[in-house]
Amino acid sequence: MNELTHFIDGKHVKGTSGRFADVFNPATGEVQAKVPLASKAELDAAVASAAAAQPKWAATNPQRRARVMMAAVGLINRDMDKLAEALSREHGKTFADAKGDVQRGLEVIEFCIGAPHLLKGDFTDSAGRGIDMYSMRQALGVVAGITPFNFPAMIPLWKMGPALVCGNAFILKPSERDPSVPLMLAEIFQEAGLPDGILQVVNGDKESVDAILDNETVQAIGFVGSTPIASYIYSRGCANGKRVQCFGGAKNHMIIMPDADLDQAADALIGAGFGAAGERCMAISVAVPVGEETADKLIEKLIPRIEALKVGPYTAGDDVDYGPVVTAAAKANIEALVETGIAQGATLAVDGRGFSLQGYEDGFFVGPHLFDHVTPDMDIYKKEIFGPVLCTVRAASYEEALGLAMDHEYGNGTAIFTRDGDTARDFAHRINIGMVGINVPIPVPLAYHTFGGWKKSGFGDLNQHGTDSFKFYTRTKTVTSRWPSGLKEGGEFNFKAFD
Ligand code: NAD
Repeated sequence: MNELTHFIDGKHVKGTSGRFADVFNPATGEVQAKVPLASKAELDAAVASAAAAQPKWAATNPQRRARVMMAAVGLINRDMDKLAEALSREHGKTFADAKGDVQRGLEVIEFCIGAPHLLKGDFTDSAGRGIDMYSMRQALGVVAGITPFNFPAMIPLWKMGPALVCGNAFILKPSERDPSVPLMLAEIFQEAGLPDGILQVVNGDKESVDAILDNETVQAIGFVGSTPIASYIYSRGCANGKRVQCFGGAKNHMIIMPDADLDQAADALIGAGFGAAGERCMAISVAVPVGEETADKLIEKLIPRIEALKVGPYTAGDDVDYGPVVTAAAKANIEALVETGIAQGATLAVDGRGFSLQGYEDGFFVGPHLFDHVTPDMDIYKKEIFGPVLCTVRAASYEEALGLAMDHEYGNGTAIFTRDGDTARDFAHRINIGMVGINVPIPVPLAYHTFGGWKKSGFGDLNQHGTDSFKFYTRTKTVTSRWPSGLKEGGEFNFKAFD
């Protein structure tokens, strides 16, 4: 059995806690590795050696730090296929999707190459007589990232890139379900020239997360995962005086107006609802057609498209639209929610229950489901299913559709499909959701914008990547300096002051 490690002080290190978690191949259901679960003592030791290494890294000029990012970009591109293969093997997503996962993370590392410019401070010349004022952004020290299973390359890269290039040491606690890619990324940054101890990967579960939350040296925590854990980490981290940002779950609505191109909308729903088996925080899980006629036509277009979806292992390459879900527990949870949908009165327009794939009977595959006539009181509407299940809630008007998305507790992403500019503009302005698509089903902002949800999808006031990430991983110091001897009466420069 392959025993995975932690990555501490520039090398792979075996776990010493004696506790391990199974890492599955979701396509076969087999355990393919064991990942060590760090104890509090292991986590604290990793933080202590990161703290010892960090001041020298913070004192390295930003351009040199940016060069490490530049080298990492080259190495990630070099290893793209290797990373994507390891990712698919542990996560289950298709090879093309896995490459997308790495690519969207890579784009943030490319953005980080601009650190010398992004870290430049402000300067006010002659704020008073002989007085100048300037501000600088300084690293926080040791910071940590706690990341989910569903983007094991992208989200660790979103966290580590800005944290590192700003001069911090970074402790990554990746998901215990697919830990290999984060370990490979740590090797890559090492090869790119990152000093030992500046990027530590500590594998683990609640014990190591709690150790991060309670460690006095850790200055800031960036978390991505489900809302109950996001809320827990935010409150305990803040109570311990840390800077914390947490991004949680989602229930993303797509509104389809009667004037929308319904073929385009149906195609968009297939990709956004079922891609990566629905295990995306930006997946569309609720379609809201406006008007009965729009709803009937949309359902008619969706059914054959959903029935044509090919579900299989990543090894089948382009023949597969989506793969298995991550664990047997995730599969069981999705199946249980589907049963509640039926029991609570929704119409199962496409029934993916009982899906099985020859040769992969033990894999965690879930067939695609489409629910129609879903109502807001049903569990399948209220809860995040995180699987290949699309719910349709029929709305009588635009205002009713808007109200549904507004009233849902989650506020990560949303989309509207329409040909009417006025409606699109009104939607973008009034909706209380962080990321909005207009005829774009998955509006994930690019690296130089920022990513973050509202309501129960985001805790804390700064987003991920873009300029917000540089603010999150630094603090501002403002200096007011007075050199009265530098000025002669009348304001002429006195060169003697510099003799
Ligand atoms: P999760 O909350 O189960 O786990 C996330 C991290 O928290 C992991 O590292 C895990 O080890 C740790 N963790 C789990 N239970 C814990 C506990 N009791 N105490 C302390 N730490 C704990 O999430 P997941 O299943 O890995 O990921 C899927 C979730 O992440 C979905 O809800 C999805 O919407 C969300 N997500 C959100 C975004 C976003 O940007 N908003 C992006 C991706 C995923």
